[in-house]
Amino acid sequence: METVDHLVLDDECWEELLTLTEGEAAPCFQCGVCTASCPWGLVRDETFSVRMLIRKAQLGILEEQEELWLCTTCSQCEPYCPRGVPIIEVIQALRYLMWKRRTTLDGLPSLLWSVYWNNNPWFQPPSQRMQWAAALDLPDYDPDQHEILLYIGCTASYDRRAQRLAHSLTQILRTHQIPFGVLGENEPCCGETVLRLGHLPYFMEIAEAGAKIFRDRGVGKLIAISPHCYDVFLNHYPEVNETFEPLHYTEYLTSIMDWGESQFQGSYDRIVTYQDPCFLGRRNQCFDAPREILKNIPGLTLVEMDNSGPDGLCCGGGGGRMWMETAPDERFSDLRVQEAASTGASIIATACPYCITCLEDSIKSLDIEGLEVLDIAEIAAKTLPR
Ligand code: SF4
Ligand code: SF4
Repeated sequence: METVDHLVLDDECWEELLTLTEGEAAPCFQCGVCTASCPWGLVRDETFSVRMLIRKAQLGILEEQEELWLCTTCSQCEPYCPRGVPIIEVIQALRYLMWKRRTTLDGLPSLLWSVYWNNNPWFQPPSQRMQWAAALDLPDYDPDQHEILLYIGCTASYDRRAQRLAHSLTQILRTHQIPFGVLGENEPCCGETVLRLGHLPYFMEIAEAGAKIFRDRGVGKLIAISPHCYDVFLNHYPEVNETFEPLHYTEYLTSIMDWGESQFQGSYDRIVTYQDPCFLGRRNQCFDAPREILKNIPGLTLVEMDNSGPDGLCCGGGGGRMWMETAPDERFSDLRVQEAASTGASIIATACPYCITCLEDSIKSLDIEGLEVLDIAEIAAKTLPR
C-alpha cells in the first residue's frame, strides 16, 4: 500500500471488489447513466455518482467517502445500466470494504451491535418483541394447524406507528378466518439492515441461522409485512422456496381472495394515490397486487402520480438510510408528498413501514394539510365487516 498526499492507494481494493461481486463490477465503462437516473440528482447540485465510486475503486483510491452511504438501494439506476452492472451489489460490496478497513459512518457499528445483542436494529429488548400484540393472543406457529406464518419483522414489532400495520393485518386475517401463527419472541431479525449496510459475512450468518429456524419450525408460506424483509427472504436467503416460500402480504391477500364477491363492506369514499415501495415494485415487480386490493375497496378512487410503477420515486428510507440523517432540503419524500398532493388525493397508500415513516415526516415538516399516509392493510381493515 502506497500513500500519495492525502489519498490512500489500495492495490487490493479493485481485486476485492471483483471477488465480492463475482466479477460483475468489471463491465462498468463509466458512461454515467446510473448517475443521471439517480434520485439524488433531484435534491442535490452535486449529485451522487456511482460511476465515480467504481472508478475510484478501479484506481485503488479508498478514502472515507460519506457519499458511499447515500445510496438508498432503490434500484432506479440498475435497469438503465447498458452493461448490466448489479449496482446495488457493487455499493454493498464497497461498503463492506469500508467495514473491513473500519471506516464506516459513526453510529453504524452500534446499529449492527444492536442486531447482534437485541435481534433488532431498533435498540429494543428482545423480550418486548411481542408487546405490541399483548392483548391479541396470537398463536405460536404450528405447521399442522396454520396455513401461514405471519412474519411481523422488527419495524412492525417495535415502531409504534408501524405496529398499527401489524394490528390491521391480523384483523384482516382473522376476519377471513385464515389460520395463521407467529414466532413471537423467537422471530429472528431478517438482517436486511445488515445486508444493505454491506456487512456481508454477518448478513450470511443471520440468513443461515434464520433459514434454519424456518426449517426447524416447518415453515411453509411465510407472509412478510415489510417489503424489505420479503426481499431478503426471497432473494438472499439460502433454502428459499425449498423449505419456505416468502410472499408479501399484498400478494398473499390477492391470491386468496375472490374479488368477484366483495371482501370489504362499508364505503371508503376517498381519493387515494399509491406509493410503490422500491423493494416491492421495482425490485420484485409487484405492482399489481397492491393496486388490486385498493381498487376493490368500495368507494375508493385510485389515482396515479406522474412517477409511478417502475418509475416510482423512492421515499429515501432504504439502503440503511432509515438510520442516518438526511438534510432537510435533500429528502426524496418531500418531493413525493408534493407530487401526491398535486393529484388531489387525500390519502397516500403504501405497503411498507419505511415509506410511511418518511412520507409522514415530510407531510409534517412541509405542513401539508388534508393529506395522510396509510398502509393498504390499514385502509382494508377500515372496511371489514364488523
Ligand atoms: S450505468 Fe453501468 S456502465 Fe454506466 S457508469 Fe453506471 S454502472 Fe457503469
Ligand atoms: S440504487 Fe437508487 S440511490 Fe442507489 S445509486 Fe441507484 S438510483 Fe441512486
